[in-house]
Amino acid sequence: MNSQAATEKKRAPRIGRRAVLQGGALAVLIGGGVVLLARRRPGPADSVETAPGQVFTGDAPRGDLWQRWQKRGWAKKALYWESLGTAVKCRLCPNECVLKPGDRSHCRNKVNHQGKLYTLAYGNPCSAHVDPIEKKPLLHFLPGARAFSIATSGCNLRCLNCQNWEISQKEPEALKDASGPDLVATREVMMRLGEGDMARLSMFPDQVVELAAATGCQTIAYTYSEPISFYEYMLETARAARARGIKNVWITNGYIQAKPLLELCGVLDAANVNLKSYSNDIYAKLNQGKLEPILATLRTLKAQGVWFEVTHLVVPTYTDDLGMIRRMCGWMARELGPEQPLHLSRFHPEYKLDRLPPTPIEVLLKAREVARAEGLKHVYVGNARGVPEAETTRCAGCGRVLVERSIYSVQALRLDRNKCPYCGKVLAGVWVA
Ligand code: SF4
Repeated sequence: MNSQAATEKKRAPRIGRRAVLQGGALAVLIGGGVVLLARRRPGPADSVETAPGQVFTGDAPRGDLWQRWQKRGWAKKALYWESLGTAVKCRLCPNECVLKPGDRSHCRNKVNHQGKLYTLAYGNPCSAHVDPIEKKPLLHFLPGARAFSIATSGCNLRCLNCQNWEISQKEPEALKDASGPDLVATREVMMRLGEGDMARLSMFPDQVVELAAATGCQTIAYTYSEPISFYEYMLETARAARARGIKNVWITNGYIQAKPLLELCGVLDAANVNLKSYSNDIYAKLNQGKLEPILATLRTLKAQGVWFEVTHLVVPTYTDDLGMIRRMCGWMARELGPEQPLHLSRFHPEYKLDRLPPTPIEVLLKAREVARAEGLKHVYVGNARGVPEAETTRCAGCGRVLVERSIYSVQALRLDRNKCPYCGKVLAGVWVA
């Protein structure tokens, strides 16, 4: 770790916008879209640092809390693990947590209860929101579609710059309250929710699908925190959505093992994978992860025919090196193809990197030039105002403008179904349902 990174890591987290929001009304309906945030409670693992794959010893809920969690249906047997006697090894992500009875996992959502691995993040989202699909970002997938977006707490990485740390770095009990009578989400319940109710609310797969349909969403997005940490909930919801003709969108760090990824691919329609850098060293110091598993995820999505786009957050002094960006884009062009969309996203000060400046616009523009020089045809600049053609899609054949957008909304769409109306070339992506 360089000295700057070490200094940033020691600083205490700031209270951010999300915490302020959580102090106010917790559930409102805006324009037919559900907006929910669960109240945050202090929890035992609230500010504890752990090394990659390190678990929280003896931190699993027990006694009354465990009973209530089970009664609510929020605890469920996990899908990918192996028994090591009384201990268990999780086989969902490359961390491969080994948990003794009573331990909590690195992602905070899994526990060993009497020699079996359980997820605590089933049917208990802490956030639900209707977003434009462009916000994910997905710019080559059903333009203008609405995404019913859900998240529980938890993440399997530890990014110093996490913009959702107030949910991703929390155990479920810090955000949800299993006491009191059951409260199951329906549109009617959502309309009369009061402050504090979201923390008690259950939203099981069928209810997520009902609410998505009721709010006019063509897609359900698993997003905000890391959906790998609520894999079982995501997978069952995605199956229920498929049965209703609603599409599934996965917004992810891509840090997952091959088998669960292949199972998920069977119900996925699109993904946005955050390729945080093209360096193992940077993954180690910025995210507590490794590069190769994410590259493997990208290769698998490609081989399985799942539409996906890649986001790279350009963090000053960490991931803004143009040489590294050149190598990353070269790999993408070779392995994923020149029409693979890339989103270069502007960093804003967050979490443990709150003293770093935002990414200079000139750096984003240079990075875009580098990406294009490596052969990528669809390179976008996100989270930055005033960048020319930041979200404009041009034909990869004749170069004419096909889609114009402004702040997550489509302003002009010139397509003959999925083809350029000028030269007839197919535009990569999914353009019609
Ligand atoms: S998904 Fe969670 S419990 Fe499983 S290996 Fe990864 S961090 Fe550990």
